[in-house]
Amino acid sequence: MTESEIRDNLQKVKAALKQDVTLCAVSKRHDAKEILCAYRQGQRVFAENHVQEMVLKHNELPADIQWHMIGHLQTNKVRQIAPFVSLIQSVDSMHLMEEINRQALKAGRVIPILLEIHLGQEESKTGLSFQECLALLNDPQTALLKGVRIEGIMGMASHTDDRAQIASEFRLLKTFFIFLQTTYAFSYPALRTLSMGMSGDYDLAVEAGSNMVRVGTGIFGERMTIAQ
Ligand SMILES: *Cc1c(COP(=O)(O)O)cnc(C)c1O
Repeated sequence: MTESEIRDNLQKVKAALKQDVTLCAVSKRHDAKEILCAYRQGQRVFAENHVQEMVLKHNELPADIQWHMIGHLQTNKVRQIAPFVSLIQSVDSMHLMEEINRQALKAGRVIPILLEIHLGQEESKTGLSFQECLALLNDPQTALLKGVRIEGIMGMASHTDDRAQIASEFRLLKTFFIFLQTTYAFSYPALRTLSMGMSGDYDLAVEAGSNMVRVGTGIFGERMTIAQ
């Protein structure tokens, strides 16, 4: 994509978002040059799904970029991003949360996280069911993790062309989110982010009440097939 294409895409996406919706530009498998094009348009939040790639980009790009991790995260790699990552959106186990806590404390900071919820009917190796999410929040151990701050949930709709199906999954996740905010108002007062919506469905997500969308191809075009 050229600089002007990226600029036009960004403007188009932003125009479709309500004011309180945070746009994460998903820059995985796009190079530093393309990221800088979006940066020059004022974009500061970028999301990656591989630790190695995020570390390299963090090292070479402006320091005021906020890096979000959105991909499956192995516990042995948390250490590499703990000093700088601004939000880990893909937390789906106590084990991972404990390791983030450990590395956050080592780095002398509190790392904001979202719990990833598995929506839809497909088999999936990642993401929590609603039940599992509640079990994590109810576990007394969770409240003891001073190095993590649970700020909300992230979800992806089923991989389908059925827009009505996608919209109904988003509405369900919104309902669950409101339930969490109400139920855990005292134990988890930082619950405020509902991350749902990607290039193909962010309009439906925002309509359903999302306040964070993750848009990749809609800004940068098709991704390179081989990770750098
Ligand atoms: C890649 C990715 C996105 C962005 O997908 P696009 O269809 O390119 O917008 C959003 N969320 C997650 C978790 C991703 O892995």
